[in-house]
Amino acid sequence: MRIENDPKLDFKDVLIRPKRSTLASRSEVDVTRTLRFMHTGRTWTGFPLVAANMDVTGTMAMAGALHRHGAMVALHKHYPADALADFFAGPASANTFYSLGTTEADWEKLAAVKSRAPVHFLCIDVANGYTERFVEIVERARAENPDAVIMAGNVVTGDMTEALILAGADIVKVGIGPGSVCTTRKMTGVGYPQLSAVIECADAAHGLKGLVCADGGCTVPGDVAKAYGAGADFVMLGGMLAGHDECEGEIVRESVDGVEQPAKMIFYGMSSDTAMKKYAGGVAAYRASEGKTVEVPYRGGVDATMQEIMGGVRSMMTYIGATKLKEVPKRTTFVMVGAQLNTVFG
Ligand code: 5GP
Repeated sequence: MRIENDPKLDFKDVLIRPKRSTLASRSEVDVTRTLRFMHTGRTWTGFPLVAANMDVTGTMAMAGALHRHGAMVALHKHYPADALADFFAGPASANTFYSLGTTEADWEKLAAVKSRAPVHFLCIDVANGYTERFVEIVERARAENPDAVIMAGNVVTGDMTEALILAGADIVKVGIGPGSVCTTRKMTGVGYPQLSAVIECADAAHGLKGLVCADGGCTVPGDVAKAYGAGADFVMLGGMLAGHDECEGEIVRESVDGVEQPAKMIFYGMSSDTAMKKYAGGVAAYRASEGKTVEVPYRGGVDATMQEIMGGVRSMMTYIGATKLKEVPKRTTFVMVGAQLNTVFG
């Protein structure tokens, strides 16, 4: 039995220490990055935030909206090939990941879409990115898509980050168990505190000129700021982008003063009972559900939320004196805290 006892931290365990700087205003900071992808030599410039490829958030409408902010979306897997081909022929495709499943039918669907439109970004994610079979899938995806940027995961340690990069991934997706509708830690006892996972995987990836995407666990704009501080090249959000008009989620209406209006939206994990019933006809006997179904507040259009997130990141950069997002990890010092918020008013 081995116990690792150096501290492993989550977003809630740290704050970012302010630093002296010459920056006068948050309008002087630039939240975009230009990233180079090692296996393709391709570059991308934008605000490196990605909407999760979950049914509710990974939508074409979300892609259109986030594209206007320079951010990205990983589309969910359930669009038909025709709709995907039409979409990838359009402008938002420059900021959109195609999510590739791992069945033969999924490879055929990708081939059908690619015969009609270019697919520049592929996301291949499984709950457990530690299997040999998954490494082989990434190798096959790289061999069959030499020009595409490939994001693969999920893992939480440096060794497996390196393995996926060497197998052909440009970006490794980091996070096991931190998600807002994830019950993996509860059901299996497996996981890794997300801030430490990002720090360790980013270190491993950057050593090989690869990139990482911090996936899951951000609950407020400050967590997104901390993820960038920890070395994340991209940050993926599910729950923080749920509840908006651009989502494909069932809206729960409530009567306020006799007038029916949208109040909540149903949001669920992709391994929840809800998702498995929708796509696989129920939870298979050999597996347990590792996701939950919740109601999130309905929040209107996603533009206001994006402004809040980008505003938070910009302000963090002013506090630490970083003019460019790229400088953020170098200028970040985390301090461990016992408590970080004043909750007196809830
Ligand atoms: P959030 O931003 O909501 O905290 O996390 C989003 C991430 O949670 C997704 O990108 C995905 O990696 C993960 N996730 C989504 N659905 C499930 C699920 O049903 N089970 C688990 N374990 N993780 C999920």
